[in-house]
Amino acid sequence: MTSYVIETPTTPTLPVTGTDAVFPIRRVYCIGRNYAAHTIEMGGDPDREPPFFFQKNPDNIDASGEFPYPVKSSDVHHELEMLVALKSGGVNIPIDQALDHVFGYAVCLDMTRRDLQGEAKELRRPWEIGKAFERSAPCGPISPAANIGHPSDGLVELTVNGAAKQTGDLNQMIWKVPEMISYLSDYFELGAGDVIMSGTPSGVAAVEKGDVMEASIAHVGKLRVTVV
Ligand code: MN
Repeated sequence: MTSYVIETPTTPTLPVTGTDAVFPIRRVYCIGRNYAAHTIEMGGDPDREPPFFFQKNPDNIDASGEFPYPVKSSDVHHELEMLVALKSGGVNIPIDQALDHVFGYAVCLDMTRRDLQGEAKELRRPWEIGKAFERSAPCGPISPAANIGHPSDGLVELTVNGAAKQTGDLNQMIWKVPEMISYLSDYFELGAGDVIMSGTPSGVAAVEKGDVMEASIAHVGKLRVTVV
């Protein structure tokens, strides 16, 4: 048995609907600008951009229902996204076999320190400082594909304190879930426990302490997160 020279970090996990067993997180991939209307609101061109990805840290995933307002920012945005959880992986996965690797789906938020991300973009620096901070990925429980199938359309919406902020449809994704899995597997070896945050519809906006974000994705579930 291996002995460690320091205390071993805990594996981050997400709950799974219908069971007490949990889903272990290995890596967190996030796609940028995957809904045309959001691409336009961020100053991009939805017709010409190939997909691009960044990563969050596995332990940024948080199922507590609370999002602590982060340090070093005064412009923190919600991005409502569908999380895709993989039960297996590999390299060079064909598009038509990609969904065989999906364990399930969850509602999640790609919380973003927009001011720090904006500075990073301007200086052509990596985005981690804006994206991969503590508890930056609030998530709901995973709904197994065995129960809900593989949703490719349906309403995606987020309210803040009851007011509508983000609305879209899963069918508005520029790069579909099988395409994202296949594309990522050409560049990385995907594995069981990897999750993909699949992009946000338009309507991203700043939150304040005390705000209550309520998100839902048809077929997948709901998520309620309080900014503390
Ligand atoms: Mn995002």
